[in-house]
Amino acid sequence: MTDCLFCRIVAGELPSERVLDSERTYAFRDISPAAPVHVLVVPRQHIDNAAALTAEHADLVGELLTTARAVADAEGVLERGYRLVFNVGEDALNSVPHLHLHVLGGRSMGWPPG
Ligand code: 5GP
Repeated sequence: MTDCLFCRIVAGELPSERVLDSERTYAFRDISPAAPVHVLVVPRQHIDNAAALTAEHADLVGELLTTARAVADAEGVLERGYRLVFNVGEDALNSVPHLHLHVLGGRSMGWPPG
């Protein structure tokens, strides 16, 4: 059994609140939301983080982005705007070592991020 948290969520071994999914991606609500809409889009296959991506992952990355757009549409924030975030490494406070794209929306946000 893998000890990767998000691999276990994707496999259904741990509970999650599914928003939608696609052949290679799975989208579920963040357990500690930082905005009214806070959904994580992950690849079903394990990839550590965005720094581990190569040209071979180009189609998969495209699918992560189109899934994120579908999430924004389903959550009603497509028109108003939303933020997509990949945290990578310690300085960015990346806490779960399985690639995930944050979809944040439903409130106005500041820039630069903290
Ligand atoms: P990171 O800080 O790595 O970019 O984001 C990890 C995210 O995963 C955090 O926003 C955190 O709230 C979320 N998270 C951590 N553990 C769980 C969990 O067990 N279930 C869900 N749904 N989200 C989690």
